[in-house]
Amino acid sequence: MSFLYRNTRKKDEAVTASQAILQGLGTDGGLYVPDEIPVMDLPLSALAKMDYRGLAYEVMSRMFTDFTEEELKYCINSAYDEKFDDPAIAPLKKHHGTHFLELFHGKTIAFKDMALSILPYLMTTAAKKNRMEKEIVILTATSGDTGKAALAGFADVPGTRIAVFYPKSGVSPIQEKQMVTERGRNTFVAGIHGNFDDAQTGVKKMFSDPVLKQDLDEKGFRFSSANSINIGRLVPQMVYYYYAYTQLMNAGEIEEGEKINIVVPTGNFGNILAAYYASLMGLPVNRFICASNDNKVLYDFFTTGVYDRKRDFILTTSPSMDILISSNLERLIYRIAGNDADKNAELMKELTEKGRYTITEDMKKELSKFYGNFADMDTVAATIKKIYEEDGYILDPHTAVAAAVYDAYKKETGDTAKTVIASTASPYKFTRSVMTAIDPSCENEEDFALVDRLEKLSGVKVPQAIEDIRSAEILHKTVCEINEMEQVVRGFLGE
Ligand SMILES: *Cc1c(COP(=O)(O)O)cnc(C)c1O
Repeated sequence: MSFLYRNTRKKDEAVTASQAILQGLGTDGGLYVPDEIPVMDLPLSALAKMDYRGLAYEVMSRMFTDFTEEELKYCINSAYDEKFDDPAIAPLKKHHGTHFLELFHGKTIAFKDMALSILPYLMTTAAKKNRMEKEIVILTATSGDTGKAALAGFADVPGTRIAVFYPKSGVSPIQEKQMVTERGRNTFVAGIHGNFDDAQTGVKKMFSDPVLKQDLDEKGFRFSSANSINIGRLVPQMVYYYYAYTQLMNAGEIEEGEKINIVVPTGNFGNILAAYYASLMGLPVNRFICASNDNKVLYDFFTTGVYDRKRDFILTTSPSMDILISSNLERLIYRIAGNDADKNAELMKELTEKGRYTITEDMKKELSKFYGNFADMDTVAATIKKIYEEDGYILDPHTAVAAAVYDAYKKETGDTAKTVIASTASPYKFTRSVMTAIDPSCENEEDFALVDRLEKLSGVKVPQAIEDIRSAEILHKTVCEINEMEQVVRGFLGE
């Protein structure tokens, strides 16, 4: 069964899956959404017998209907291989009376690898299918983790180039070092004097600038996006929620069909939306628990129905969630507005012009499966320490936001449904915050001394991604103002 992807802001624009992946963003700044989400026609008990790659094929083939079996299997097998340091790809670990789905076993030790290791294959396959001969230029704004994961995915992939913008003072030292030491010859990295929202807005602006598009077209380039606004990121993320579920079944933790809760530390709303899409496909989910840090726009939205980005941007210990404009929420808004592009476009216009919008009571009723809450930085540090002291398991600060919110949820609701917490980064990526949470006396030690301390405490070997940057040379030194981003991109492309 095939279906199209529709623009959330323009009702007549509909494209195939491969075209949506190639373009990244729709015209007028809208996002592509599946016209329908097909119900999984295989029983969970059949899916439970599959490994990650097998399951990935079943889920993705239902969503990317214009890819052949051969094409999809090529993409899946190229992505989910020994690059991952755990044969399960996304292992589920039981701690703190719940289950942590470790999504950080890829090349750059953050969950972004789950989708960004396959996106370059999906994109180059999509280009071939659509006879698109231009060189693909990936433009990416990052709050820290997407940048390196996208660089690692696209590095030296023929027919592509990639430019990454990150907030110069808004990422962890290890995140920055991972990016500025990237060696791929088709890569470009720049820090900006601004925050993540500035970077994301700047990138979106370049996407919708007709003059820039025309100039690049003449030179044989075409922009695309590796941010989670690209549907090619969201669909691969549906897979691991199925995989978490089948692992729970296989471990005898749940019966087939039993509803589970899913807790997601949220920033741009991509990861949690993928869980929601999986449930529309038939995955039995009770609640989606949306965990925010001090930038708690989403918590306010779920409790009041008002999305208001007009507030101070707070730099926290979970930088990949320091976001006030959660782009993927637009896909949910579109859906709860009854797939009404005009209504959605109106609300997004209010967000751009007035910095806020309010949804109707009817729309709000559609959100009953979502629960929002937040954890401040002290709570996050205390949660890391507490869970470490319970059984030696060490969380990164993003996952700790989720664990803290889940504790609050249980207390508030008494809900005992089995729960999966999306564990989005290795603690090694945020060594300083993690180590000072456990032992404040390490504050003055240098970064790599803390890495070695973390290894001793956790008993988890230092990942290759960290070993790689210990002594790596800094290759990207560009820092620019927000309004210089376009000029910098033109420079990278040799204008
Ligand atoms: C990107 C990221 C998040 C937020 O995910 P979204 O899909 O943007 O909501 C959470 N934790 C980590 C470690 C991340 O890298």
